[in-house]
Amino acid sequence: MELSFIINHLAEEREKYCDAVAPPIFQTSNFYFERVADLRERLNNEMGGYLYSRGLNPTADILRRKLAALDGAEDALVFNSGAAAIFCTVLALVKAGDHVICVENPYVWAQRLFADILPRFGVATTFVDGTHIQNFEEARTPHTRLVYLESPNSWDFALQDLKAVAEWCKRHNIISVADNSYCTPIYQKPIEMGIDLCLQSATKYLNGHSDVIAGVVAGKSQHIRKIFHLEYLTVGSGIQPFNAWLVLRGLRTLPLRLEALSRNTAQVIEFLQHHWAVERVLFPLDPSFPQYDLARRQMRGACGLFSIILKPASIEKIENLCESLQHFLMAVSWGGHESLVLPKAATIGREAFDIENPEHRMLRFYIGLEEPKFLIDDLARALESLSD
Ligand SMILES: *Cc1c(COP(=O)(O)O)cnc(C)c1O
Repeated sequence: MELSFIINHLAEEREKYCDAVAPPIFQTSNFYFERVADLRERLNNEMGGYLYSRGLNPTADILRRKLAALDGAEDALVFNSGAAAIFCTVLALVKAGDHVICVENPYVWAQRLFADILPRFGVATTFVDGTHIQNFEEARTPHTRLVYLESPNSWDFALQDLKAVAEWCKRHNIISVADNSYCTPIYQKPIEMGIDLCLQSATKYLNGHSDVIAGVVAGKSQHIRKIFHLEYLTVGSGIQPFNAWLVLRGLRTLPLRLEALSRNTAQVIEFLQHHWAVERVLFPLDPSFPQYDLARRQMRGACGLFSIILKPASIEKIENLCESLQHFLMAVSWGGHESLVLPKAATIGREAFDIENPEHRMLRFYIGLEEPKFLIDDLARALESLSD
C-alpha cells in the first residue's frame, strides 16, 4: 500500500464523522447495545467491534490500522507505551519452561523483563551478541521459543541480520520479535524480512513531538489476536483516545520529519567526525561503522540518533561539556523535534568512571529539527572546553 495514502487517508471513514477532515476523538469509556444478542456476540468476540475502550476504541483503531499497514502486517495493537507493547507481546508468547534468546544490551525495560521478571515465572533468557548468527545457534536449546531482537540498538547501534535470523528462527520453529523503534517502517521493514512481530516505541519518531508515550506491535492476525484477548485486555495499557489522536497527527509528517532529520544529522556528523576531540562516531550509515554493509542492505535510511566516543577526557570535563551545550537539552528519549544529549557517564557512578574505557566517554546525541549550523556552532564552542 502506498505510504502517503496510508498516512493521509487509510481507515479514515470521514463520511461517518460529519465529513470532518480530522478524525474525532472518541473520548468514551463505554459503548451501548440495543439488543442482548448483539451484546452477547460482542462479549464473545471483543475484537469484532466496540464494547469498552480498554479493548478497542474508534480513534485508536484508525491509528491501529495505519500502523499495521505501515509495517506491511495483517494487524497491530497500539499501547500506552512501548514498554507495555514489549511486556504484553513477550508475555503472550512464553510459558514456564520456555527459553528466550535476546540480543545483548536491548532497551533497558526489555532487559528488565527478561533478566528480572520472567525468571520468576520459569522463563530463562540467554543474552547473545547478535552481530553473528552462530551465536543464536550456540544459545539454542530444545526449549527455545522466542528470539528478541533490536536492530539497531539505541546506544551503539549494533545490528542483527534480520533476514538471516528470521530464516533461522523459522527453521527451528521459534517466534521472532524485533524492536524497530530506531528505523520505523519508513527505513526498515522487519516483517517483510520474515520477522514475526515488529515492535516500536511510538513515543519516538511515529509521534515525533515529545508529547505522548505510546507503543505498537504489528504482526499476523493470529498472534495479535492472542495478545489482545489476554495480555492487552488484562494489563489494560491500550492507548487512550486523545493520545491516539495526537499520534495520528504526528504521523502525518513522519516522512517529512525523517527526511529533514536525516539531512541535519548528516551535517552534524560530518562536523564531529573531523573534530580533534572526537575519537569515533557511531552511526549505522557511516562508512566507518563496523556493520555498514549490513546496514546498507537492510535499512533504507537512518537519522537523528547517534553516539560519539570522546578522546580521553576527565569526568569533570565531560560533565562540563554536556552542561555547557545551549541548544541541546540533556535528556533521555529521542525522536522529537528538539536536539538532545545524553552522556553514558550519567548511567554509571562518578567514582566508577574509567577514562580508559571508551564506553564511559560516550555521548549520545539526538539531532532534531533545528538549523544544523546553529547546532554545530554550539557543539564547536562546547567541545573547545576540552582543550584546556
Ligand atoms: C523508548 C524505547 C522503548 C520504550 O518505549 P516507551 O514508549 O518509552 O515505553 C523501547 N525500545 C526502544 C528502542 C526505545 O528507544
